[in-house]
Amino acid sequence: MAQALRYHSTNQQAQSVSFRDALLKGQAPDRGLYMPGRIPQLTPAEIRSHATMTYAAIAFDVIGRFVGEEIAAADLRRLVEDAYDFDVPLEHVVGRRYVMRLDRGPTASFKDFAARMMGRLMQHYLRGTGRRLLVLTATSGDTGSAVASAFYGLADVRVVVLFPRDEVTDRQRRQMTTLGRNVHVLALDAKFDDCQALVKQAFADPALGHLDLSSANSINIGRLVPQIVYYFYAFSLLRKDGDAEHVTFAVPSGNFGDMMGGVLAMKMGLPVRRFVIATNANDEFPRYLRSGRYEKIEPSRNCISSAMNVGHPSNLARLVALYGGVMDEKGTIHRPADLGRMRREIYAASVTDDETRDTIRSVYGEHRVTLEPHGAVAWAGLTKYLLENPQAQGDLLVSLETAHPAKFPDEIRRLLGFDPPLPPSLAGLDDKPEFVTSIAPRYEDFRRYLLAEFQP
Ligand SMILES: *Cc1c(COP(=O)(O)O)cnc(C)c1O
Repeated sequence: MAQALRYHSTNQQAQSVSFRDALLKGQAPDRGLYMPGRIPQLTPAEIRSHATMTYAAIAFDVIGRFVGEEIAAADLRRLVEDAYDFDVPLEHVVGRRYVMRLDRGPTASFKDFAARMMGRLMQHYLRGTGRRLLVLTATSGDTGSAVASAFYGLADVRVVVLFPRDEVTDRQRRQMTTLGRNVHVLALDAKFDDCQALVKQAFADPALGHLDLSSANSINIGRLVPQIVYYFYAFSLLRKDGDAEHVTFAVPSGNFGDMMGGVLAMKMGLPVRRFVIATNANDEFPRYLRSGRYEKIEPSRNCISSAMNVGHPSNLARLVALYGGVMDEKGTIHRPADLGRMRREIYAASVTDDETRDTIRSVYGEHRVTLEPHGAVAWAGLTKYLLENPQAQGDLLVSLETAHPAKFPDEIRRLLGFDPPLPPSLAGLDDKPEFVTSIAPRYEDFRRYLLAEFQP
């Protein structure tokens, strides 16, 4: 039997833990992020065998390698089959270029992939222990709704979602606020980064130690691991079409959890030529990759790809760790990463709102494929990559579409002149009552709320 995988903090000041403890804790006690002590490897034959598997079966294979013997195979199989009961279409655009639609889950964003698995894993570990977790999560829109939907009704987990009142759409808000029960939603007159800072402060607050806090933000390893799976799945679909070579993925990026899933897939053996990491005007990563100097953007810039308005991506510490460096939670680099290797494997570009809108128009005009702002940032990043790297024109290219166009009806109507059809998951929201509490964006207020609401 292989030795059980342990999880280490990127800040290197905390003890290593099991998958279960990393999942239930969220953040390491030294404020670092948990990373697997070694990267599980798949052989080419194992990757080839995915070609005949369902999404859930590939998820079982990939996630199982991180969980190890901690969960019985039959239990894990049940969890993945329950989590992944929706389509993951790979839509052909033109030539050898595809869009992978990660928007068919219950809240119509790619966050469903991670949240549904994480919620089920947490509930699996908590059942019968008498422990009840209080999950805190800050959202720029899609995390909150995905986590709320994925955790809604779970017996042993309560959820508090903090969101910046003016930075989420009506529809995104209603996806969170119309649930109730164990889902508590807080609206703040603040930015996403402020909400995230409040959550981080709560984790470090000894006065809340008795509340059994955990995180559902992309800092949780339980969110990262499920996001490895769809990269393998994309490859399995392309192989079914007879293609068996390296793939380039374009990833629209904010907190860099999606990208980390891809980079981990590559380190596990998936044949990836390059990652095209596309950000909106929050371009701290493209600048870092170019210069080696990291400067976060404070406050973060508002763009139409609002789920990516992140001025200091929390998963960057993980990427730096994967390339041999150390970056702390504030963004200070204590040991530089191998930038040469990072640049060979990752290309990064920043995309303006105008370019995003032009891309939505042109991709629809030329190919009749509807993108929303986040997926359009990825496609625009891919276009920049191909301009700078003409030799890659004939490569197999997969651009990730991370939300359903119907989540951004105003923008799509303005640009394309029609209302994107509503997926069943988004229908009927406007008629339901909302449950939401407003608090001031001050830590004392947040702490008072938590103590009043969740005192055992
Ligand atoms: C969260 C989100 C992103 C960014 O993903 P990260 O993992 O934070 O980089 C992109 N698009 C949509 C629609 C999202 O909800």
